[in-house]
Amino acid sequence: MTAFADLRLSEPVLEALRDIGYEKPSPIQEQGIPPMLEGRDVIGQAQTGSGKTAAFGVPIIEYVDPTSSDTQALVLTPTRELCIQVTQAIRGFGARKNVEVVATFGGAPIREQISRLRSGAHVVVGTVGRVLDLIDRGALQLSSCRFVVLDEADEMLDLGFLDDVEKILRRTPSGRQTALFSATMAPPIRKLADNFLYEPEHVKVKSDTLTVDSVEQFFVEVPSKDKPEQLAEVIAAERPRQAIVFCRTKIGTDRLFRLLRDRGNNVRALHGDLSQGQRDGVMLAFKGGRVPILVATDVAARGLDISTVTHVVNYDVPRSPDTYVHRIGRTGRAGATGRAITFVEPKQGREREAIEEHVGIPMTPWAKGATTPTGDRHAAATRAAAKGEAPAEVVEEAPADVVAEAGPAVAGAPADAPTAEAAPVEAAPEASTDEEPRRRQKPRRGRKPQIHHDADEPGTRIVLVPGADDGLAIRDLVEAITSSTGLDGEAVRGVSVLEHFSFATIPSSGAADAVEAINAAGGQVRAEVLLAD
Ligand code: AMP
Repeated sequence: MTAFADLRLSEPVLEALRDIGYEKPSPIQEQGIPPMLEGRDVIGQAQTGSGKTAAFGVPIIEYVDPTSSDTQALVLTPTRELCIQVTQAIRGFGARKNVEVVATFGGAPIREQISRLRSGAHVVVGTVGRVLDLIDRGALQLSSCRFVVLDEADEMLDLGFLDDVEKILRRTPSGRQTALFSATMAPPIRKLADNFLYEPEHVKVKSDTLTVDSVEQFFVEVPSKDKPEQLAEVIAAERPRQAIVFCRTKIGTDRLFRLLRDRGNNVRALHGDLSQGQRDGVMLAFKGGRVPILVATDVAARGLDISTVTHVVNYDVPRSPDTYVHRIGRTGRAGATGRAITFVEPKQGREREAIEEHVGIPMTPWAKGATTPTGDRHAAATRAAAKGEAPAEVVEEAPADVVAEAGPAVAGAPADAPTAEAAPVEAAPEASTDEEPRRRQKPRRGRKPQIHHDADEPGTRIVLVPGADDGLAIRDLVEAITSSTGLDGEAVRGVSVLEHFSFATIPSSGAADAVEAINAAGGQVRAEVLLAD
C-alpha cells in the first residue's frame, strides 16, 4: 500500500496533508503525483470526488518557490464554485510553505482581485472568463507561469469555453508543464490535449472505481407523463437524506421544481439561468443540508463536492453515457455509498443499454427496498444514511445575536460570471429567502459597539477558511473577525460554517480593510471577498 511518503513528497507537504487528514493517496493521486513531479504533462481522467485536486495541487505546491513573488502556476476552472473549492484545497496543501493562492472568478469585484494579484500570487486559480480579462488588463502576468492545469475540461467544453482556454494557453510560456483533468475525453478535449500537451502521461481512474463500487445503480421504466408520480414514489420509498434530481433542460428543471414545491416539498432548483448570487444561495442551502432535494441541469450541478448526497435520480435519461457518469458521481463520494435511479421512457431502452455498456454493469430494476448484487454489502450503511443520520457536512447557523440576515447575499449580486446567463427566474429568490425573514433582526440595544453598523447597510460576502472540519464553530469565526477588525459582532451577518470553508457578510464600507486585517492577524482564519453589493 502506497503512503504519501512513498511519493517522495517534502516534509512541509507531508505535514500539511497530515494536518488536513489525508492518510493515504487515492488512486488518482498515487498515479498522478509521480509523473507530475517528474515534470511530465499529464492527462488525468477522473472526476470530482476522486481526489484529483491533490493530484495536481500537491505537485504544484512542491514546485512553487515561495521566495519569488511571480505567479508560477495557473489552475483554470469552469465555474466559480469549483474555483473556490480548488483554491481552499491548494491553500491547505501549501499551508506550511507560505504559498499564496489567489482565487479569481467572475461575479466578484475585479479590483479586489487585481490588488491581490499585485501583492503576490504564487498560484492563481481562476475561472476562464475572469482569467482572460485579468490577462487583457495586464493584471495577471504569466511569463513565469511554468505550470498550467485545466480542471474539469469537459465542463469547460460544455460551457463553450474551450476557445478562451486556448487563448490563455497561448499566453503562457511554451516550456510550461500542463495537466488536463477531465472525467471524459470528448473529441474536442482530445484535440486540445494534442495541441497543447507534450507527450502526456495518461492517468485514468477506472470508471468502476468511480461508479460501481460506491453507487448502486437502478432503473425504472416509466412513460414521460407518469414521471412525477414515479418520482414521488421513489422519494417516499428511498427517503433520501439528500437527492439531486437531474433534468435535461432548464425549462424541465424549473417545471419539476415548481411541481415539487407546490406539493409541499422542501426543494430548490439549480440551472444556468440563475445569477451567480442565486446559485450561491441554492448551493449553500443544499450543501448545508437544510434542503433535501435539488432539481438541477447537468451544467449547473457538475464538479460540485457535496459529500452528503445519498441519491441521484435521473428524471430524464442523460444525453450521453459520459453525462451519466458525471451525474451519478454526485453521490457515493469520498468513501460513502449512494443510490442512482434512472427513469427510462419506453422508447429509451437503447440509451439505457449504451450507458450500461459504458459503465460495464447492468442496472438493476428499481423497486422499494431493492439492492444490487454489488451493493448488498453497502446496503445497510446506505439505508442507515437514508434514514437521516446527522449529515457529514456540518453547517452551523449563527445564533440570533450574530445574525441580522442569514443566507448568502443573493439579491443584486453581480452576474458577470461565465455561467450566469440570463435574468433571474423565480426559483432562486423563492429558494433562498424562505428562512431569512424569521432570522432577520435589528442589532441588539444596550451594548456599546466598537464600530456600529446599521444592519441595512450594504453587505460584502466574504469566504473564509477553515471550516467545521478544523473544529471551527460560528462563535470562533465571529470572534476572529471581530477581534481583528474591530467590527461589532452584530455587523457580522449570515455566518455559515461549512465542512471546508465558511461564509460571512460584513459591512461593505471598509470591507477590504477588514479582510486585510483578518489575514494580517496571523490566526487560523483567512478571508477573501466573495461578493459585494
Ligand atoms: P476532489 O476529488 O479533489 O474534489 O476530492 C474529493 C474529496 O475527497 C474532498 O473532500 C477531499 O478533501 C477528499 N480527499 C481527497 N484526497 C483524499 C485523501 N487522500 N484522503 C482523504 N480524503 C481525500
